[in-house]
Amino acid sequence: MSNPDRDPGEMVCEGREAAGVELMTPREVPLGGPRAMSVRRTLPQRHRSLIGAWCFLDHYGPDPVSESGGMVVAPHPHTGLQTVSWLFTGEIEHRDSAGNVAMVRPHEVNLMTAGRGISHSEVSTAATTVLHGAQLWVALPEAARDTDPGFEHYAPPEVSGDGWRAHVFLGSLLGDSSPVATFTPLLGAELVLDPGTSLAVPVDPTFEHGVLVDLGSAGVCGLDAGPADLAYVPPGTDEISLVAGGDGARLLVLGGPPFGESIVMWWNFVGRTHDEVVAYRAAWQEQITDPATGSVLPDSRLVAAGRFGVVPDQPLPPIPAPALPNARLRERR
Ligand code: MN
Repeated sequence: MSNPDRDPGEMVCEGREAAGVELMTPREVPLGGPRAMSVRRTLPQRHRSLIGAWCFLDHYGPDPVSESGGMVVAPHPHTGLQTVSWLFTGEIEHRDSAGNVAMVRPHEVNLMTAGRGISHSEVSTAATTVLHGAQLWVALPEAARDTDPGFEHYAPPEVSGDGWRAHVFLGSLLGDSSPVATFTPLLGAELVLDPGTSLAVPVDPTFEHGVLVDLGSAGVCGLDAGPADLAYVPPGTDEISLVAGGDGARLLVLGGPPFGESIVMWWNFVGRTHDEVVAYRAAWQEQITDPATGSVLPDSRLVAAGRFGVVPDQPLPPIPAPALPNARLRERR
């Protein structure tokens, strides 16, 4: 989705430290519009921008579409990242300027590679009554950040054990591995624990991890995490201990080796310098501006070809970039 933040330069730090494991609590960000649904954001935060290459984590729902209006995100651009869409409930139609039209459905991952530039739209379908999911971004390393745009879809099998069920959509966990290739080592999995279940999850000790609580509550390496909280586990452990609360827990387990590169992240762009992000913004604005009137085009089918391409058959007007902050954008590591 598009970063809906009206002032994307501002970050609020709400992390707390506990023996290396940290609880990162979410902040609410409205998606915009009169009946706006809002999202709960745990990445980036001022003191921690990345977990592995994971650089953005919005959790939303469960929202009744009759009240929220659902998700209507018009064409907008991305650079230097991959978007990872994971739904718990509902259905979203994805369209992108590389020509991909795909449905996002529960337990099926959609991975869109922006590379040097892509634009896309995301609209919940008419059949959707409840929308509930997570939107994640992955920063691309230097060697891959100008790669061709692309799209991949994968429906992982369910793996299960005593009191748990998992779907591994990226990397390896609990005996299953995703075939989806990534540009840096990554882990992404949904893990459901029955009430009271204790599980020691073997993990790669070179990875740092984030455990997002979707439903219920869980102890993560001894730290209590509730809905929309993200528990951060630093590298150096080969096991994450989980204890589900009395209502059980549905979790997303994310991980990767520390990214090791500084990035500049602003609105929907990941780059390396302030000037690069300024140029991305200018390129998008040029594509979506009517040269005759100087106004944003009323229909994305009229968008000019350029770095970000054109989303096919999508009449929604494109989303203009917010104003740049006055200060130079700073690097995040
Ligand atoms: Mn997007």
